[in-house]
Amino acid sequence: MSYVMFFDQGRGDMKDLLGGKGANLAEMTRLGLPVPAGFTITTEACRSYSKSSEVPAGMWDEVASNLARLEKETGKKLGDPQIPLLISVRSGAKFSMPGMMDTILNLGMNDVTVQRLAEITDNERFAWDSYRRFIQMYGDVVMNVEKHKFEAALVAAKTAKGYAADIDMTAEDWKALIPVYKTIYREGTGADFPQDAQTQLKSSILAVFQSWNNKRAKTYRALNKISDDLGTACNVQTMVFGNMGMDSGTGVGFTRNPATGAIEPFGEFLLNAQGEDVVAGVRTPEPIAQLESRAPEVYHQLMKLTKDLETRLKDMQDFEFTVERGTLYMLQTRNGKRTAAAAVKIACDLVKEGLITKDEALERVDPASLDQLLHPHVKPGHGVPSIAKGLPASPGAATGEVVFTADEAAEIGAERAVILVTPETTPEDIHGLAAARGILTARGGMTSHAAVVARGMGKPSVVGAEMIVVNRQDGTFTSQGHTVKRGEIITIDGASGLVFRGEVPMEQPEVSGGLEELLVWADERKRMKVHANADTPEDAARAREFGATGIGLCRTEHMFFNEDRLGWVRKMIMSDSPEAEKEALDHLLPMQRGDFEGILEAMDGLPVTIRLLDPPLHEFLPPLEAQTAKVATAEALGQKGETVTADRALLARIKQLHEVNPMMGLRGIRLGLTRPNITRMQVRAIAEATAKLEKSGKNPKPEIMIPLVGLAEELAASRAIVEEVLAQVRTETGAKLDIPIGTMIELPRACIVADEIAKYADFFSFGTNDLTQMTFGYSRDDAQGKFIPYYMQNGYIKDDPFSTLDLEGVGALMRMAVDKARATKPNIKLGICGEHGGDPESVIFCDSLGLNYVSCSPFRVPLARLAAARAVLGGENQDRTK
Ligand code: PEP
Ligand code: MG
Repeated sequence: MSYVMFFDQGRGDMKDLLGGKGANLAEMTRLGLPVPAGFTITTEACRSYSKSSEVPAGMWDEVASNLARLEKETGKKLGDPQIPLLISVRSGAKFSMPGMMDTILNLGMNDVTVQRLAEITDNERFAWDSYRRFIQMYGDVVMNVEKHKFEAALVAAKTAKGYAADIDMTAEDWKALIPVYKTIYREGTGADFPQDAQTQLKSSILAVFQSWNNKRAKTYRALNKISDDLGTACNVQTMVFGNMGMDSGTGVGFTRNPATGAIEPFGEFLLNAQGEDVVAGVRTPEPIAQLESRAPEVYHQLMKLTKDLETRLKDMQDFEFTVERGTLYMLQTRNGKRTAAAAVKIACDLVKEGLITKDEALERVDPASLDQLLHPHVKPGHGVPSIAKGLPASPGAATGEVVFTADEAAEIGAERAVILVTPETTPEDIHGLAAARGILTARGGMTSHAAVVARGMGKPSVVGAEMIVVNRQDGTFTSQGHTVKRGEIITIDGASGLVFRGEVPMEQPEVSGGLEELLVWADERKRMKVHANADTPEDAARAREFGATGIGLCRTEHMFFNEDRLGWVRKMIMSDSPEAEKEALDHLLPMQRGDFEGILEAMDGLPVTIRLLDPPLHEFLPPLEAQTAKVATAEALGQKGETVTADRALLARIKQLHEVNPMMGLRGIRLGLTRPNITRMQVRAIAEATAKLEKSGKNPKPEIMIPLVGLAEELAASRAIVEEVLAQVRTETGAKLDIPIGTMIELPRACIVADEIAKYADFFSFGTNDLTQMTFGYSRDDAQGKFIPYYMQNGYIKDDPFSTLDLEGVGALMRMAVDKARATKPNIKLGICGEHGGDPESVIFCDSLGLNYVSCSPFRVPLARLAAARAVLGGENQDRTK
């Protein structure tokens, strides 16, 4: 087995083996692009090393023979005192993990080659600067010497000379720093800095392999659901230098704007710099368009090469380049990370350009990322003055408390919204980025790590806001005369780059432009319908705008909570005679009828699944503690009279209705059967609203859904009540009232006896919130705050089961219910209305079950439409229950 491949031996589709970067370097080499020569050590070798802590047999021999070829092709030799070859050793996994793993540059430098390099390039300053960079990088990355010690030594050297920036350092200054760096290295490692280039190479390769398992790489993989088993490849490549003077430079770019998708040059470069200067965000680079005036030939060559690459690779490219004394080299290209908005626009544009098909376009947009697109943004014309402006690195607006470190963000961000404000962000801050609502940095460009990672996560971010000065000691930042303290609220707008003090009015986004087009393609493909969970006519209208073709769940209890009717709801609960109960229900009836009319009208012609009352009645009464206190106070003050008597009666009723475990108590169908007049009132309200709308020429399509059924007998009884009322209203109004009656499947028992239950149901809708709660025995109100994060961190569960369906358990029960229901009624309509109906992975599973529809919150409707289409396109259609 071969563990090493020269760039011209690989191909772009060998990402599993060569990693994304290695495969692309191979592809660029094959395409004849100006790529510095090199070779890739495969992920297979890394996997083997991760398992046994030893490289596979024969790997070092292969490295040696490929190095020999590299030396032959370049005419240089690693460690040679006359014509030294300098190389980079870089990580590169199958999926891009920007900045998470290690890279070593300038390898091959030592006390001799540095002198020779100075002669060959006639640039002493460059040579000594490169050498000190190598000692620092090798010390930090390979030998774990604390990086800040090198940085402190550099700051001290600059201060001593009164310099403001690195660029002021002369050749002599850099040279004088070398012994200082070597001492730091010796103190940190107990050994001298290795002069032997082969030793440097071997330990750097091993360090790259080891970096696969460093903390930030693991965190990044966990966040991005990348498997820990893949391993990284290691690319060994001839160095080219962007810091050889003002005719040299380095930069990164995208073939389209990764924030908006616009077809325009996008990127940044720095003259006389190495790549790390751009991505580390230490110096703020110039926009790539300015390269045209500085080096027109290079600029036009770069634009042409990258456009060709995009056409051949059929996707927007993210590239790195270096210009060494006027000669352009391509160092890297890969499919660029992008915002959701850009992903949509690029996918649609590529279809129009004839590069990809509509189906491919659907595969190009991650459904989960659409959440990003539909996030709030700052309301135009809000009038709040900004206190700073940076680069608009990742769109969406966020408000939160200011924190200054990633650790603080991780800690406080678990409970409250925080904005991470830092001078610059490094990959070590990944856990803080994950926990913060948004990120604000003082330095760094649009392609700095903070920007790239935030964009990938869909976090609003503003970077390079140079007017802000962060003072961590004081716990403040200052900007244009403002001093903002830790814990103060700020708002950042990742679309404009503006920063505001306090909260700023936000606006909900609309589905428009390219997204609408893409979703129409999705609708042409998808098999399942997408409905929405909506309880008000406004929500219903919004759901319709987002493309919902029905309401899958209208929770009627939300209507009971309404201010002006709570009094009558309480009267209904307190009623101690049939007459009193009737009086209360008679008052509630017209209100409910109005509710249903509104929602049925908003969804005219589309199904509206109305669920009968679900929560236990005591939820509509004041809390036990509050009422006990009220009565106790009245008694202590010796108060008497009607109010006190009523308060006592209310307290007695609260105690009577009190349940230790209300989630498993008198709710859902149990409530409907024990208080059948509530069911009768609700059904009558639905029926009368329908009759009225029918009469006015509308096409209302209500469906009545009975919650929390566990016994077929329960449903039979409840259905009889519903049918009886429908028959009455039919007689009274002459309306057709062809209203299906179905149930929610929310209990494990309901799944097990689904064949029996199906006899009395025209449809089933899986209530997977309760079904998950009841299957796991985890309280849906407490588990996420108490132990689910711990379970996820420890790998007991992969996902939060309340967000993503647990396929092995809950999913298996659903499958059983589907099979049993269809055995009784082959054409029974089946859907889902738990939160999982808006989770892409769960939607794909629902498709594999053959459900007729999914129902989710209005904002997630677009996401569900896309996920439903992707389910049909396959690939991700995995069913783990079989
Ligand atoms: C469910 O349990 O999944 C459901 C949709 O009902 P609710 O969340 O109202 O209990
Ligand atoms: Mg439920």
